[in-house]
Amino acid sequence: MSRNISERLVVLASHLPSSASSSSSSSMASEKEAALAAAPSDPDAPTIFDKIINKEIPSNVVYEDDKVFAFRDINPQAPTHILIIPKVKDGLTGLSKAEERHFEILGRLLYTAKLIAKQEGLDDGFRVVINDGPKGCQSVYHIHVHLLGGRQMNWPPG
Ligand code: AMP
Repeated sequence: MSRNISERLVVLASHLPSSASSSSSSSMASEKEAALAAAPSDPDAPTIFDKIINKEIPSNVVYEDDKVFAFRDINPQAPTHILIIPKVKDGLTGLSKAEERHFEILGRLLYTAKLIAKQEGLDDGFRVVINDGPKGCQSVYHIHVHLLGGRQMNWPPG
């Protein structure tokens, strides 16, 4: 019998401090510029997230199982800001490229967000975000769910 996913939850490095950075207009402008420049011509081109999954570059890992990898965002927008990604991209550069074969991994990404929110103690609420394409301010073309928490969120988002 396969183990319950919550039993496979591995806390690897969840206790390092992560500061929330304020969204200054200059950092928002540079994020937008990065997003506009990032759209890849080759959807199979590796991204920085492949190097993070393969541990070729370091990251602050908070969760890993056979299908999903999660680590703290290097430029946090909230006290808790975690990226949840599939280990195998399988054409999912972004949500707009989703096909029926991706049902299972898309569900897993969201369910893992819930598990990590619990692990992080975000009991009063949190936000998940998937940026898509240049207008969605996507800068890395390997689908990822942002999990944000630890402060009051506002609506509408920027
Ligand atoms: P998006 O703009 O939605 O494509 O999100 C990409 C996210 O990846 C941004 O929030 C970046 O701060 C984050 N990021 C980029 N490089 C790294 C890295 N080496 N380690 C952790 N997060 C990263």
